[in-house]
Amino acid sequence: MKIPIVELSDCIVCGVCVEACPEVFRLNDAGYIEVLDLSTFPEDEVNEAIKNCPADCIFWQEE
Ligand code: SF4
Repeated sequence: MKIPIVELSDCIVCGVCVEACPEVFRLNDAGYIEVLDLSTFPEDEVNEAIKNCPADCIFWQEE
């Protein structure tokens, strides 16, 4: 299965991914972007977030 990963050391917490794909990405209480624990991920929406991430820090990982 493919899961989206956010490289937190590069993330500038702009919120674009949360806006593009709130069912997958969320801003947690600590102020970091979190990938929710889903069994499947909506590929098109995640790809949209990847495409629009200004820090280029979201990528797919094969599990
Ligand atoms: S779009 Fe990229 S830089 Fe912006 S909050 Fe999401 S992961 Fe971080």
